[in-house]
Amino acid sequence: MIEYIKQEEFSNYENTNSRAFKDELAEWRLSIKPEFTRYTANLLEFISQHNAYPLYRVDKTGSTLTGAYEDKTAKPITFAELINRDDLRDELVAKGLIGAEYKNSDNTVIISYHCSKCNIFVIKDGIHRLTTWGVYQINKEITVYQVSSNDWLRANSDMPNFCTCKTI
Ligand SMILES: [Zn+2]
Repeated sequence: MIEYIKQEEFSNYENTNSRAFKDELAEWRLSIKPEFTRYTANLLEFISQHNAYPLYRVDKTGSTLTGAYEDKTAKPITFAELINRDDLRDELVAKGLIGAEYKNSDNTVIISYHCSKCNIFVIKDGIHRLTTWGVYQINKEITVYQVSSNDWLRANSDMPNFCTCKTI
């Protein structure tokens, strides 16, 4: 069930849980009329059914992961594709991006930015946990804090790398 929540509640969660950035700098502030929701989902269904993306992408060679949002030659890869690529799984393990720390985590809450126009979900927090659980097929019920907008055209860091909406 999807529950609509206040922006303050989303911001509080984002502020205390996202290691990547602080809420006042969050990219959703550049989206138009954002809506905030919280819902639970089955982890393996979530990553197999949705166009759900981690922030890291594959570089222009298609064979190496990059976390650099500035890299405009890199291509998005869904969680579903990522967990089925043996070569990239090896890279994730080698770089310590998946492993025991995440495997045993009790934290099942993630942050998702959703473009309701092109229907993509960009996971802003919980990437390592989702990837690890996906690779090892550890199913869980997850709680998703989500911000949705149908206009991310002013976004300036991660979203332009995933949202396929264009200005007319
Ligand atoms: Zn879009």
